[in-house]
Amino acid sequence: MCSVAHRISFRAILKHNVILRSFMHSQGGVGAIWGVIESEWPKDKEKTRTRCLSTASTTTKRDFLNNPTTLKTVSDFQALYEATKKKFQSKKLPVDVHPDAVFACNELDLSEVQVYGFDYDYTLACYKPILESLLYNLASEMLVKRFKYPDEILELDYDPTFAVRGLHYDVEKGLLVKLDSFLQLQLGSVYRGRTKVPEEEVLKLYHNRLLPIAYVEGPNNTYRHNTNSKMVQLADLFSVPEMCLLCNVIEYFEGNRIDYNPEIVFHDIKTAMGSCHPVMHATVMKDTEKYIEKNPKLVQYFEKLQNSGKKLFLVTNSPFSFVNCGMTWLVGAQWREFFDVVIVQARKPKFFTDESRPIRLYDAKTHSHLWDRVFKLEKGKIYYEGSVRQLQELKGWRGHSVLYFGDHPYSDLADVTLKHGWRTGAIIT
Ligand SMILES: [Mg+2]
Repeated sequence: MCSVAHRISFRAILKHNVILRSFMHSQGGVGAIWGVIESEWPKDKEKTRTRCLSTASTTTKRDFLNNPTTLKTVSDFQALYEATKKKFQSKKLPVDVHPDAVFACNELDLSEVQVYGFDYDYTLACYKPILESLLYNLASEMLVKRFKYPDEILELDYDPTFAVRGLHYDVEKGLLVKLDSFLQLQLGSVYRGRTKVPEEEVLKLYHNRLLPIAYVEGPNNTYRHNTNSKMVQLADLFSVPEMCLLCNVIEYFEGNRIDYNPEIVFHDIKTAMGSCHPVMHATVMKDTEKYIEKNPKLVQYFEKLQNSGKKLFLVTNSPFSFVNCGMTWLVGAQWREFFDVVIVQARKPKFFTDESRPIRLYDAKTHSHLWDRVFKLEKGKIYYEGSVRQLQELKGWRGHSVLYFGDHPYSDLADVTLKHGWRTGAIIT
């Protein structure tokens, strides 16, 4: 048995109280543990309890979250944390539970998995941080040369520490924001350009810390961005330099009092980032070692799977020449012998969502796309586009017997789990 899900040790919970720490840093956790604190609060801390919870007794939890004037002081939170930490530490574990053991929220029996699928970028090929700088520089050059943005933008440096993936950009207000899983704005994490927006201004703009789901995801409540939603989530690792460029450009416009439309700037930068991928591919292919992390255990892992009778496949959005170069460097010239099916330029998420999209054959020798009808998927051949439906039909692979690894929460993981029942493994870096 092995888990691909969240893992956390009892010792981590008891000694470090990770739940409470995150609660203190992000008040989004208040609702979740409020009941525990109220019911478990030690009697000798009654005075502190009265002080800390005085606000909560007169307001609802939502009011508490939405009204910054009711927030507690840091020392109140500290007292709350220490008392609850003591309470958790006083709990005794059952005698047969090892405190250093790792426990899973969900278990996956790997003997049920017969087919292993992989994405390529940031899954099999993990890039060095220098790739982000390359993407940033190529996109800013594109912005100046093609979209005629001011030349000064070329002088704005990439800051890899500025943003993390998963942030939302409000296309209407031009703000980069951090939302928690309950769609609550994380005050102190809202930026216009590179400048933090004061909490009072954020609350004035949004009227509420809790954003309506339709505002974030559109009227259909889909996580996929559509023209009716006000926000886009920047969810893959390639989007980290994109967010930095976006905020650098907005900061430049703000600082120089240049009028701009936040939505147009967003789309220009997105287009510039997308357009520079072919140049990025050529640069990485010229000096693969400079950009891709070597993973000496990859061959060993593929051999282990193959020797256990598992089937392997690759579905990536990248072109064959780029994947071939990286995989040859990572695994060796014979890398294709490990894979039963190789699909490049798959155009995920459409690969997982479109019902009818024919798989096509790619001729690696002539670098041409063939128009023949594909009746079977053969080892050693390269395919492109297509759909997961066709892949499953031609190979006879079904839901729970497939485990697919990818780094993108939506394009790689959500659709295929929700619509086709595949098991998925998220690569988190
Ligand atoms: Mg990827």
